[in-house]
Amino acid sequence: MLRTGIVVDARYQDHYTGRNHPERPARIGTLLTLVEEYQRPGVKRFAPRVATPEELALIHDPAHIGLVAATAKKNHFAFDADTPVSGQSYPTALLATGGLLTLLEAIMTREVDNGFAFVRPPGHHAERNRAMGFCLFNSVAIGAQYLREKFGLRRVLVMDWDVHHGNGTQHSFYDDPGVLYVSTHQYPYYPGTGAAEEAGRGQGEGYTVNLPIPAGWGDAEYQELFQGVIDPICRQFDPEFVLISAGFDAHRRDPLGGMEVTEEGFGMMARVLLRLARDHAQGRCAAILEGGYDLEGLQQSVLRVLDEMSGDKLLQPLAALAPRGLLPRVRDVQRQHWELPKLYF
Ligand SMILES: [Zn+2]
Repeated sequence: MLRTGIVVDARYQDHYTGRNHPERPARIGTLLTLVEEYQRPGVKRFAPRVATPEELALIHDPAHIGLVAATAKKNHFAFDADTPVSGQSYPTALLATGGLLTLLEAIMTREVDNGFAFVRPPGHHAERNRAMGFCLFNSVAIGAQYLREKFGLRRVLVMDWDVHHGNGTQHSFYDDPGVLYVSTHQYPYYPGTGAAEEAGRGQGEGYTVNLPIPAGWGDAEYQELFQGVIDPICRQFDPEFVLISAGFDAHRRDPLGGMEVTEEGFGMMARVLLRLARDHAQGRCAAILEGGYDLEGLQQSVLRVLDEMSGDKLLQPLAALAPRGLLPRVRDVQRQHWELPKLYF
């Protein structure tokens, strides 16, 4: 049995985005209810700490940090049409990044094996110099850098299964071979980045893996990509830590995404990554919440992922595949950098 850490806090509801904004406090409210009821042996809850300015500066320009901090004195401000903030947004964002760091510390000190940080605001669109797409600070990118600087890890995987491309995370490590960034995302779609040809630069060439997906794909297609492309590449990378930018807006019920993934599909993705972590990273795996805007789809999917993290499902086989050779453009780009199994192509 694996020991799983959960970070969640009622204060994550304090980031107010205005009426009718999909990234709303109730997303955390519904997960608070789920966590209260989720009693399993080996599951431990942690209270988040706040991130320090030095930790934010692992990824962000001090001018950007100052700009977000200044919004704490205002009742309302908008970084762009999608990204409104209120007076409590800055402290909540510090707690969001700090929540992931709390979890990473618990995993690195072996207090737990893996875990999930249920935080908001999300982070993967935030650039070094810019808040955008509901995101203020790029928590997963800060977490990856924190693992390298504080704990001396050399290879960190960031798997981003949110339906949107994590432009901020990609750009944070685009010329850096120490972080493998892998993203499945609807394409073309917001924010416009994430073409198969975007594969890294300089020393980092080959260490960005984009899988742009047409709308309408579901569990079977995602399973083929996870088993046929993502898993073999990540095993060759040999990560010492598996981070998951876990958005649930590829769920079929989601109002923003155009995908047909079910909670079973998210469970499959988690199982592939947890097995990878078990075989390469001493089980070390941390997920952080990104998108996911249908409350029922979010809750059901989170439940399935937590069951994979904390239970004994890792030993159970995945459903059989009928390989169809999806995304030939991804194959053409990635086989310049990685060995891919012929079975899937
Ligand atoms: Zn998203």
